[in-house]
Amino acid sequence: SPLPELPVFDNSFAALPGAFYTRLAPHPLPEPYVVAVSNDVAALLGLPAELLDSPQFAEIFVGNRLLPGSDPLAAVYSGHQFGVWAGQLGDGRAHLLGGLRNELGHWEIQLKGAGRTPYSRGADGRAVLRSSIREFLCSEAMAGLGIPTTRALCVIGADHPVYREEVETAAVVTRVAQGFVRFGSFEHWSSRDRDVELRQLADYVIDTFRPECRTAANPYDALLRDVSRRTGELIAQWMAVGFMHGVMNTDNMSILGLTLDYGPFGFMEAFDAGHICNHSDHRGRYTYRNQPHVAQWNLYCLADALHSLVGGALPARQAIDETFGDAFEASFERLMRAKLGLRDGQPDDETFIGETFGFLQQHRPDFTLFFRTLSGLSGTANANDAALRDMFVDRAACDAWLENWRARLARTPWDDAERQAAMRAANPKYVLRNWLAEVAIRKARSGDYTEVQRLLACLRQPYDEQPEYAAYAALPPDWANGLEVSCSS
Ligand code: AMP
Ligand code: MG
Ligand code: MG
Repeated sequence: SPLPELPVFDNSFAALPGAFYTRLAPHPLPEPYVVAVSNDVAALLGLPAELLDSPQFAEIFVGNRLLPGSDPLAAVYSGHQFGVWAGQLGDGRAHLLGGLRNELGHWEIQLKGAGRTPYSRGADGRAVLRSSIREFLCSEAMAGLGIPTTRALCVIGADHPVYREEVETAAVVTRVAQGFVRFGSFEHWSSRDRDVELRQLADYVIDTFRPECRTAANPYDALLRDVSRRTGELIAQWMAVGFMHGVMNTDNMSILGLTLDYGPFGFMEAFDAGHICNHSDHRGRYTYRNQPHVAQWNLYCLADALHSLVGGALPARQAIDETFGDAFEASFERLMRAKLGLRDGQPDDETFIGETFGFLQQHRPDFTLFFRTLSGLSGTANANDAALRDMFVDRAACDAWLENWRARLARTPWDDAERQAAMRAANPKYVLRNWLAEVAIRKARSGDYTEVQRLLACLRQPYDEQPEYAAYAALPPDWANGLEVSCSS
């Protein structure tokens, strides 16, 4: 049957020379069904409502039927995984359908889990329902939090067996982003001394996404500084909401500064800066507190890859040194001040923020609930303090910290109601806790997708009270204590 009128593809990535990818069609899956859809992303793409409601929607976004104008391909990249050079990787289970430009921007549409590619390295090219739901929900949750991220249009399932630790079923998540170029996309060419392709890729990124870099004395240096700054800001935003990526390998780092490749991520619950959210991360490389260091290490890899374009290894590393630390620290301090309700900066804020993290580390309250509850307290001690004090075994320690906090508040006076509203806008009530994702996944595995859609609706407005979703703000239940997420997906 004919399709309704669809956006027009321009496929800018496919216009690069063939060395950057392999053209290939997604592999079909029988009897696909819609698990979840993000209407916000459908609107970004300008997809017509008739398409969302049609049986063709599942066929298209599982990869069984191509949108007119799409020119699917799998891109090649390399990367460092867990600090070690891994050589060639690439889209082992991702098919870029194409790109389009509309009044809202440039969007590339990618299927994840639509079968094998030349970069699958012996794996099956598939993704399971469980990890696809996690990626879908977290992409949209991060967007709701205001954090740069790839987006997710939908999850389409199919009862096709996929073998992991046990037999699971297949799903395809459709990801949408301005672009999917990774740090590792550049490392790929530099590791092979392929200067022509290295430059072509850098020119593509600059001309498509960062035209302002073109006018700089050295556009590649400008690009590196841009990535470095954005990555610093991104990591600060992650840390301010307690997000841990879990697999910050250079092939999972976006050249556009987006959160990319959701796998064994986590949101901090009982605070521990040394928390390892990825069960496969045996040495704790990707703990909460290591994220800025790892991001900088990854940026050095990118700088090394770009050194010939920037004019030497030292100037390339210098581009990182002169941007990353400042961007991270300034963003993190600004975000923490907002979380703590501190109106204007004071010279000793860094000390107070450091003391606050020391206090959280020692007493381990739930990170999200702590800041959200703090947002409701007044500038003077009163009975409402109980809501926060009850999170602590050591109430005296809580009182002492509160006294400090109020002394700091008093130095930059702010009307209570205004401050509380500002704090609520900086401290989400709802984040994608593992136990919430797990409940939605368990129901979805039995064919009930309502919980995925409810969670999506809640997580799109994470700073709003939304009393109908209050249960989603709760501490993890006892059954969730042993939940583990790993690289298995
Ligand atoms: P990740 O750790 O998920 O970022 O994946 C690292 C690399 O392994 C990427 O090149 C992926 O495309 C590839 N990969 C992961 N899982 C699969 C799979 N099931 N089939 C094919 N390639 C995969
Ligand atoms: Mg090729
Ligand atoms: Mg990846």
